[in-house]
Amino acid sequence: MNIDFWTYVDLPDHLKRKSIKEYLLHLKKKYHLSTLDEICINNSVSCMRRIVNTPYISKITGEPTGVWCTQFSVDNIMKMSIEELYALAQEDNGTTIPPEKSKKAQRNFVEFICDTLEIKHTVSNSIDYLLNEIEKASGSIKIGSDISNDYIKPLRGCIMKLIELNIERGHSSHEHNNIIATELITAAYSNRDIYFIFNSIYNEPAGDYGWYTDDPNVAGRQIELIRSKALNRYSRDKLIQLGICTEKCGCA
Ligand SMILES: [Zn+2]
Repeated sequence: MNIDFWTYVDLPDHLKRKSIKEYLLHLKKKYHLSTLDEICINNSVSCMRRIVNTPYISKITGEPTGVWCTQFSVDNIMKMSIEELYALAQEDNGTTIPPEKSKKAQRNFVEFICDTLEIKHTVSNSIDYLLNEIEKASGSIKIGSDISNDYIKPLRGCIMKLIELNIERGHSSHEHNNIIATELITAAYSNRDIYFIFNSIYNEPAGDYGWYTDDPNVAGRQIELIRSKALNRYSRDKLIQLGICTEKCGCA
């Protein structure tokens, strides 16, 4: 089933990812959706491997596995065996199932954000009114980064792969952590987003290592250190030398 919101939900940029993430975790818990992949929810790197009608990329090798990310109707899921579903996903059938636009889902999501920001709402409040209240309330709590926009650089592909690989194997070396942390900081990731990535790798209490703390809003010691020294992210040459990047990699 593919549910979309009734209309575009215009949230402030700094709230968007966090709100979607928290809402999905809330749904997962509320409806006991054990197959809703938490790693996928927690970091936006993993979900990039799951864009519909694209080849599914192996986490280990970074190569296509021969299976396509395929949408199934509820009907097909109920009727067909795993083998039959798998066979369908062996080729790109190019079709997408149009999402069902839902006013109820939209209302539920917006009210959820209101609750997290302690904004009072009643059934008589319109969505536009509530979004406006969210905008007002969140302006004052913006978790910004003091890096100006000119210096924000998006994550490079080879670093995304490194993050995925380390999440998959559940560990990361000190050097890898430095590479990942400087990359995330340069990409202006918030404390919460950095927390989610390191926590996805280690999947355990923060301990004394300093890459994250047990409070998602409080950065670890190492992260603070990198920020205070304004350390650059690793150069491409250095990454190639370390075997993280290759000459074939399209990163800058
Ligand atoms: Zn690269």
